[in-house]
Amino acid sequence: MRVLGGIEAGGSKCVCALGHAPDDLEVSEIATTTPEQTIGRVIEFFKVRRAVHAIGVASFGPVDLDPESATYGHITWTPKLAWRNFDIAGMIGRALHVPVAIDTDVNAAALAERRWGAAQGLADFLYITVGSGIGAGGMANGRLMHGRMHPEFGHVRVPHDWERDPFRGNCPYHGDCLEGLAAAPAIQARWGQDPACLPDNHRAWDLEARYLALGIVNAICVLSPQRVILGGGVMARAQLYPMIRGTVAELLNGYLDAPQIVPPSLGSRAGVLGAMALADAALGEAS
Ligand code: ZN
Repeated sequence: MRVLGGIEAGGSKCVCALGHAPDDLEVSEIATTTPEQTIGRVIEFFKVRRAVHAIGVASFGPVDLDPESATYGHITWTPKLAWRNFDIAGMIGRALHVPVAIDTDVNAAALAERRWGAAQGLADFLYITVGSGIGAGGMANGRLMHGRMHPEFGHVRVPHDWERDPFRGNCPYHGDCLEGLAAAPAIQARWGQDPACLPDNHRAWDLEARYLALGIVNAICVLSPQRVILGGGVMARAQLYPMIRGTVAELLNGYLDAPQIVPPSLGSRAGVLGAMALADAALGEAS
């Protein structure tokens, strides 16, 4: 059996995994520091273990995913200055001499949910994550969504309820885009408390469900997904699911049926499992 390597490169840690499937994994976590030091330690992880046949990278972004581009596989204009224009896929491929596939962390998580989780058998679905930022990936017509770059769902605009919510929004580019209103740092800035410490009956959650539902309705109208998988740290607040489902149905107002809105089923391992699925796909293409 071919051994797959997965790397989920995140802002605070890189998760490395080696194996075949969710029940057959060797996993290690490495703190994210400078790109050379971090990826150097990732390469060490793979070098001292079983031979790996291909590696997938699920990266924070933005990432250049155009195979025709001179900077394919590079992280591009991230606010993390040391990582800007870093050739993450190239450094790994040169050190380990195996095919390397790369995609965004959300597209990779979507791919893992398709293979092992909440999107099995679906050709059109969305995977949305709400945490330190808001991102979306998923499939259209059975293919991961890329386009000119990759979706940047967090930056869609939703109606800002200024009366209930005088907070201006904290996206450095747009102020009150969806991410600027509804990602964890926005909740923290608006209420002056860590979102995890806000009680279930705090009015923060009504507002949060409203903004997320508005964004999701836009995505439903544009992409017509069969299912919406909604995950990320903020969605650990399980009461948000029924609130969002209710508001989505209300906003659609009977014009069309809402697709199912469900939690992910792979939990915190979705990103690194998706990276392994990317590696598997790369081997399929190479053979
Ligand atoms: Zn924005």
